[in-house]
Amino acid sequence: MTVTPLARTLDQELLALARGASLECLVCGEFVLRVQAALACPECRTIVADGESVPELELPHVASA
Ligand SMILES: [Zn+2]
Repeated sequence: MTVTPLARTLDQELLALARGASLECLVCGEFVLRVQAALACPECRTIVADGESVPELELPHVASA
């Protein structure tokens, strides 16, 4: 196995998030929520869909636990 460049690492992190392999926000480290095909962070409101960060999508209201 070869060493992965840092730029690819972030890309792979996003893909892992999108696949549900990871459930932590890449920005703030909080747990993300599944919203249909995307993952949404209730803390910093980042949306991850198809391996891309989409910060301007509207989130449903989430009650904090
Ligand atoms: Zn976050």
